Amino acid sequence: MSDTRTCEYCGKKFSKRMRICPFCGGEHKREITMKTPYCPGCKSRLTLRRYRGTVIYACPKCEGVWVDTRDFKRLSSERDTYKDESVPYTYLKKALTKKERYHPCIRCGALMLKKNFKKISGVIVDICADHGVWLDNGELEQIRCFIANGGLEKYQEYLGRRVSLNHEEIRKLASGLGNVKFMQQMLHLYSPKYWILKLLRR
Ligand SMILES: [Zn+2]
Ligand SMILES: [Zn+2]
Ligand SMILES: [Zn+2]
Repeated sequence: MSDTRTCEYCGKKFSKRMRICPFCGGEHKREITMKTPYCPGCKSRLTLRRYRGTVIYACPKCEGVWVDTRDFKRLSSERDTYKDESVPYTYLKKALTKKERYHPCIRCGALMLKKNFKKISGVIVDICADHGVWLDNGELEQIRCFIANGGLEKYQEYLGRRVSLNHEEIRKLASGLGNVKFMQQMLHLYSPKYWILKLLRR
């Protein structure tokens, strides 16, 4: 296989291992080179698993999972997690565990970055910016629990941004409650969306 690729912006050739074209600065995704996915941790063959309308790759031995970027966006969305009744009502942040080994992306083989998901969740995930995330056993559930318990809003607060409330959206969400007085009170609280969604899940 050729070790170079042609820049799609300027047409010059450069190494496949580089993301940024050294001639024009154009950014490219790393190519998908691995067709049969193996566990980046223990090297077992990964198996396909259906999970809430997506397909993820699971390791039968260490029970880590690979989730492609697009599917991860969906699985870590408020929309999907609030609807999931199996998610616990409280989020217990675990102490950060030290993970020293860097794992290769199962799609392109480049070493993934380690990130504390949304900076405050305490879940350290391995990320390839181009292809997806590797999650150790239980981390996907932990992330979904973090989101379902208002994690994204807490993250916005952490960033120092005011969480702007879309009252129309809240009214729509709360229309099932049918308690006008309650609604009026809720709208004056700092972050009612979280509580309303919680009530709706009952
Ligand atoms: Zn170029
Ligand atoms: Zn494994
Ligand atoms: Zn990758």
